[in-house]
Parts: sequence; structure tokens; C-alpha cells
Amino acid sequence: MSTKKSNPKKEIVLQGIGVSPGLVVGPAFLMKADDKLPVARDITPEEISREVSRFEAALVTTKEQLHKIQKRVGKAMGQESASIFDAHLLVVDDRAFIEEIIRELNAKKKNIDAILEYVSEKYISALSAFEDEYLRERAADVRDVTRRILKNLAGENIKSLDQLKESCIIITPDLSPSATAMMDKNKVLGFATDIGSPTSHTAIMAKALKIPAIVGLHDVSVRVSTRDRVLIDGDKGVFILHPTQERIDQYNKVAQVRSSIQSGLSALREKPAETKDGYHLPLSANIELPEDVEAVIENGAKGIGLYRTELLYLVSEELPTEDEQATAYEEAAERLFPESVIIRTLDLGGDKFVSHIRKVPELNPFMGWRAVRFCLANLDIFKTQLRAILRASRHENVQLMYPLISNVNQVLQCNALLEETKDELRKEKIAFNEDIHVGAMIEVPSAALTADLIAPHVSFFSLGTNDLAQYTLAVDRVNEQIADLYEPTHPAIIKLIKRTIDTAHQHGIWAGICGEMAGDPFLVPLLIGLGADELSVSPTNVPKVKDIIRNVTYSESEKLASEVMKCASGKEILERCQALTRKAAPEILELID
Ligand code: PEP
Ligand code: MG
Repeated sequence: MSTKKSNPKKEIVLQGIGVSPGLVVGPAFLMKADDKLPVARDITPEEISREVSRFEAALVTTKEQLHKIQKRVGKAMGQESASIFDAHLLVVDDRAFIEEIIRELNAKKKNIDAILEYVSEKYISALSAFEDEYLRERAADVRDVTRRILKNLAGENIKSLDQLKESCIIITPDLSPSATAMMDKNKVLGFATDIGSPTSHTAIMAKALKIPAIVGLHDVSVRVSTRDRVLIDGDKGVFILHPTQERIDQYNKVAQVRSSIQSGLSALREKPAETKDGYHLPLSANIELPEDVEAVIENGAKGIGLYRTELLYLVSEELPTEDEQATAYEEAAERLFPESVIIRTLDLGGDKFVSHIRKVPELNPFMGWRAVRFCLANLDIFKTQLRAILRASRHENVQLMYPLISNVNQVLQCNALLEETKDELRKEKIAFNEDIHVGAMIEVPSAALTADLIAPHVSFFSLGTNDLAQYTLAVDRVNEQIADLYEPTHPAIIKLIKRTIDTAHQHGIWAGICGEMAGDPFLVPLLIGLGADELSVSPTNVPKVKDIIRNVTYSESEKLASEVMKCASGKEILERCQALTRKAAPEILELID
């Protein structure tokens, strides 16, 4: 952490949910979330010219976009339809509108997004009050164009991160997984959001990118202004606005302690993930992008237990081609051979959207058109991915699994499509592994309860506990308002995990765990005791989890598991788990407690 002179402003400490470890201090950069009303904040007189340039740039982009859309609509639907956009272009060119915005900016000294929103609302209500239909329609034009300019201003925010002279800490109401994925790691020291939870894909992505992050801070985006000095403790979820010099010094010491624990853990890299009484538990890693493979090796994981493939689709405006995907998968397979690489087929939907694929907004996206449901309805997209995975399987360490299975019929449909795809490749004389292992993710209660019906059709189960908890407990995994109800140690979850693992064993297949539970040092002994055959965790969690595995015995883990089966509450189960980890691995408590 860098140190600077103490700040005269009053220090404010906020407690959120630490989702990606690391301690950083630096200037804040306030970013508006997509599709949300802009957050108004005061700006200094010096910032006015920067806001004007942002506005001008957004106007230019908006105009270009409108011309493009007009052309496309003209081609597809004729000139009459395309002329609708003339009215939109008139708004962008309306000198009176633009001059009023600039006047208000100078007078009110607020960020341009808020000023634009304010002025346009004034126009909209004035126009809507007219009897004349033509004028009332102009209100809709102003609203549409304003939305577009605001979006471009937000995009400009994201782009301008590249242009910042100084690295910064992003403060925002919310961040989408794709915005997180597009962050420049060299410029973004960390981020903090009002909403979010540990198992949101934004949190998972932050961990993969090694960007310290805190979510669920409620109103941090309203309290902080750009350039305020802030401190983030991503391990413990502590956010400090205007930290004093004493506080920074104190955290510098904490950083040293943590770094010496981390270097102790890095000595475990080549050591096996084996309990004190000799039980070996394969410990692999979850990745999101091909470049994460290095982190798998660096942290001493054995292969990849979950390759989330969505990012390949989220980071580009176009669908990834079969060749692009095959290259991405093969890179991981080659680099990690002979360790296994389990590629999960596309899990779009829920909190992961791509505007160029998903068109219809859903009221309940997590319960909607997601994962295999989406793939089985878009066979061309699904088949392209299956072809790419099969091509990568010529390395023989590649396996694949289907997400969000909720009935055996989906497995049968996916398998049938896989066979059809294999046939195509055979005909085209393209090499692949005929015996590629196929697994089902068990992350919906109906799948856990009918695991016996699914088991005969797969080679393994992978328990996605993030979703299993969300669907079993009826708690949206990204909603921090109900975070206290999101209890992975709820007896219902523990029972479903046990039942799934036992069923797998009865059918002679293995069952691993790849949800965030597997990476929680407090829960590792319990998962060992429940009979998990593999744990797959984010690369940064591998050293901690390995340390726990190496410091407990299988027999005490088994005892813990059998004891918690009798517990009535998630809290009690968690406390028992915490007690065992605290006793077994006190050396890492500073990183997790
Ligand atoms: C899970 O649900 O636990 C899981 C591993 O999948 P994801 O987090 O990508 O939904
Ligand atoms: Mg899942």
C-alpha cells in the first residue's frame, strides 16, 4: 500500500462483504452503473471542463450510433421507419437543449450525467403537458436519446479508466460481470459496490482477476466522490473513506502479516492435498479465461474442476467462433496435461447477460432461460461449443459438464446432441477423444433429489453449491438485502450435498464440489467428511484450502460431518465448522476470520 499525508476529512468506516482479498488504498473513481439513474455528486470548478468533454464525446458517439441504426432500419424496414430517427438526431443537435445543460452544469456543479438527467426530465414534463400529439411524442424522443447519451457517458466512464493517469479504486452502485471482466487490472486497484454478494459472478470474477473487492456496502456510491482517498480490505470487507495516516500505518502492518502468511502458504505449492491421516483429496481450480491457467499452476492446484466458459461470450460483441473456442480450451488442456480440465458448457443467463444474444428481458432471470435451457433452445450455439470442446478433447485430459440440469431428460438431450456432434467430427475426420467423460452439475434441488436417475448417464457429478443454495433456500444469490438468509450451511443444503455424494458413490461415479463453499476454509473439513471426491476453488483460495486439508484428519472431518447432520440450524453447523478450522489451522486465521 502506498502512504500519503493524513487527510483532514473525517474518517468513515463501512462494513461490507469482502469478496476478493487484498489491501489497497488510493483515489476513488465513481462510476455509474448501467441502466440506473445517475447518482448526483458535487464536482469542483476544475472538473467542469472534464465533464463538458465527456458530454461532447457522448454526443458524438450517440450521433454515430443513431446514424448507424437509421441505416440498418432503412435497409430492413424502409425509409419511412428509418425517419423516426430523424427526430432523435434533432434532439442530439438541439442547441437550446445542449446549452441549457452546459449552463446548469456551471451553475449546479454536479456531474454531467445528473445534470443531463435533470434537464431532460424538465423537457420531458413540459412536452408531455401539451395537448398537441406531435409535441407529446417529442417527449418520448428526448427520453430515448437521453437514455442513450447516459449509457454512452457510462461507457465513457469505463473507457476512461484506461486514460486515468492515476490508478484508482472504482466505486459504483453495481457492476455487471462483463464490466468487471473488462477492467484493466493495471489501473483498477480495487472496487466497492452498494449491492452484491459473495457468490455473484461479479465477485467470482474479481477473485479471478485478483482485484481486491467489497460488495454490499449499501450506499458507498453516494458517500464517495471521485478522488476521495479510500482504503479497501477485501479479506475482511472493511471499507474506509478518508483513512487517517494512523489507519494506513496500521493496515500496512496488517499487510505485512498477511503477506508473510501467504509466503508460508506458497511453500505448499508442490505438496499434495492430503489430510494428516493420509486421505488424498484432489484440489483443482475454477477459471474464467484462458489466461487464468497460470494462476492455477502458481497456486498449486491440480487441473481445472470448473472452466466457466461464459466470459468468452461476454467480452466480445460477436459470438466466439468454433476455432476461437477450441484454441482457448486447447491452451488450458495442453498447459495442464495430464491433469484434467473440466469445461462447463455455456451458462448464460441469471446475472450474466450478453445484449447481442439475449433479447427478451425476464422478470426472474435466475429462474429463467439460463444455461442448458438456453443451449437446448439454441442448438447452433450449443453445437459450436460442443464441437470446440470435442476438438480440444484430443488431449484426453478434457472433460465436459452441463450446468443447471433440473431433470434427467436434459442430460439425455445434451448427450444425444454430443453424439450427433461426435458423428459430424468423425465424418470430417477431425480428431477427438471418443471416451470423453461427461458430467452433470448438481445445482438445482430437483437434480439433487433425482441424482439416482441422472447418475447412469454421466461419469461424474459436480455440485454447484452457489446455485444449489440459491434455489433450495429461495434466496437470490446476488441480493445483499437477504444475504443473511443465504446460508450454505443450512441443514437442507448439507443434506442435499450428502445425498448427492452418496448417490454418486452408489452408482460408481465421483462427486466433486465447485461452488464457493469448497473455497471457504471454514467449510472444507465438513466437505471432506461428507465424502466429496474433489474440491474445485478459485485459484487464490487454493493455498488456504490446501493448508486446511493438510492440517485436519479425515476421521475428525467425518466425525464433524456426522455430528452436523443432527444440527437444527445453519448457524450451529457453521459454528462447529469454524471451531474445527480454528483449532486445525490457526496460522491462516488472519486471512479468513
Ligand atoms: C455454482 O452454482 O455453484 C457454480 C459453480 O456455478 P456458477 O457460480 O457459475 O453459477
Ligand atoms: Mg451455478
